[in-house]
Amino acid sequence: MSSSAPAPAPAKTGDFIRDIIDADLEAKRHSKVITRFPPEPNGFLHIGHAKSICLNFGLALDYSEKLPESGTRCHLRFDDTDPAKEDTLFEDGIQEDVRWLGFNWDGFYHASDYFEKMYEYGEHLIKTGKAFVCSLTDAEIKEYRGNVTTPGKNSPHRERSVEENLDLFSRMRKGEFKDGEHVLRGKIDMANANMKMRDPMLYRIRHTPHHMTGDTWCIYPMYDYAHPISDAIEGITHSICTLEFENNRELYDWVIDNLYDYAKFPSRPHQYEFARLSLNYTVLSKRRLQELVVGKHVSGWDDPRLPTIAGLRRRGYTPESLRAFCATVGISKANSTVDMAQLEFCIRDDLNQKAPRVLAVLKPIKVVIENYPEGEVEELDASYWPHDVPKEGTRKVPFCKEIYIEQDDFMLDAPKDYFRLAPGKEVRLRYAYCITCTDVVKDADGNVTEIRCTYDPETKSGNNPIGRKVKGTIHWVSAKHAEDAEVRLYDRLLSDEAPPTGKDSEFLNAINPNALQVLKGCKVERSLSEAKPTERFQFERQGYFIADEKDCKPGSLVFNRIVTLKDSWAKAQKK
Ligand code: ATP
Ligand code: MG
Repeated sequence: MSSSAPAPAPAKTGDFIRDIIDADLEAKRHSKVITRFPPEPNGFLHIGHAKSICLNFGLALDYSEKLPESGTRCHLRFDDTDPAKEDTLFEDGIQEDVRWLGFNWDGFYHASDYFEKMYEYGEHLIKTGKAFVCSLTDAEIKEYRGNVTTPGKNSPHRERSVEENLDLFSRMRKGEFKDGEHVLRGKIDMANANMKMRDPMLYRIRHTPHHMTGDTWCIYPMYDYAHPISDAIEGITHSICTLEFENNRELYDWVIDNLYDYAKFPSRPHQYEFARLSLNYTVLSKRRLQELVVGKHVSGWDDPRLPTIAGLRRRGYTPESLRAFCATVGISKANSTVDMAQLEFCIRDDLNQKAPRVLAVLKPIKVVIENYPEGEVEELDASYWPHDVPKEGTRKVPFCKEIYIEQDDFMLDAPKDYFRLAPGKEVRLRYAYCITCTDVVKDADGNVTEIRCTYDPETKSGNNPIGRKVKGTIHWVSAKHAEDAEVRLYDRLLSDEAPPTGKDSEFLNAINPNALQVLKGCKVERSLSEAKPTERFQFERQGYFIADEKDCKPGSLVFNRIVTLKDSWAKAQKK
């Protein structure tokens, strides 16, 4: 890998793929390891892709340490064989996401780079009696294929001569036929127990311009044909995909085996399958994500509610936390669903060491401290870090007669064990004094609009008068010095742990209506007026927040909640 690549995921645990590679190196089947990450540029990447990225790029990093100078590396290859769905916009987004995750490719390719070779190999398969042009309609092809219990039937065009096949294939390329009129198929076995081996389609006609090749081609190779050839041309040694492709492996091998001697590929790649990542309370499929974006259920591919890399980045997740998550999930052969709480744990764990602690009041109510001198301002020392984070740094927080506290930190009729502010009760203000509520001001409807307190000058932070027991500490900001901010509280995209997988749009009913709550008129401490887009903080007692990368500007602050401090979801669900 290039030297600029940063550190890989923290835990380098063994897994069955590394075992296979070790055995291949031991037996000298390979002297280097070449992997690839092959996204289709038909959407933005999601956290499932991050698992594949960490695996493929992680293998290249690990083995290039073990095998320096061997040429061990990982390629980025756009699997662009479907011109209808693909776009350069997605290619740009995908590259940005891979880099942001902390990886660099040694080799940048497109499947479409090999279209000419693939065509030539198609001719070779025809000449060796391994492929034929079939003129059945799509529906007929489907009908002839049979099903798992019934063998298929041979196409009536299966015995076309080599000459006729070559002629038709070249005329398909020239554009003499309409979409669907002919296809190129492998000549394998219509009774094969593996349906993928029943004379699979290798090429189809699509009169659709392609984002890379323009209108050079009107025939396009199918995934099962293009993928093994692309791997072999690039010298890939270990071609890793998800478990759904297990049945495709036999066809992968068939394509390579029937071209290997002719094409003189630099490697004989093998396909290995691992379990895809599934996460509860969300969807990990580009098609579904596309539906959410196109249907305007979210604001775009980078909406912080989405499990896209772009969405998670805007939400405030760090690359380190996503890599750590992928490492904890591990690589296995059995599909399972990972709890969202595990992802949330990883970001909390990372930000605990990285995010300075500050004070912000999200739903403010004013407190007037009656015995505090009018016009006086004290600049109090406040540490950015708790004792258990080995970092230093403080700022001054201004304290004066009028402050804001959280509406939720006050209760008119408080039970005995309520340790926050209530009439007659005393509470400590973080970094400042203890205050006691003496009175409240109400509006015509009886709602409390202002709280009246007294403070005890003896209780300045650091001084704890003997015998004084104040159980609760709450956060606050100075009314005069606070900055206004908009705060976006994000929660899980879906309310349903396991959304319906059946009919296409059914999962839309599971969208959590509270996944985004926008709070305006929040009050944040003075130091945050300088917050730069993408800067992360812990708002004490509330959670981790990031200054929004697009919307946060000086004088118009916008923060996104990355994650709460504790897993409050499990509790809320029980209620
Ligand atoms: P989607 O269904 O979301 O469109 P895909 O598999 O069609 O996913 P590709 O662009 O073809 O998307 O995927 C690129 C690579 O990422 C493939 O190697 C694929 O196996 C892997 N990948 C996709 N989704 C996941 C996932 N949920 N977990 C792990 N790897 C994944
Ligand atoms: Mg796909």
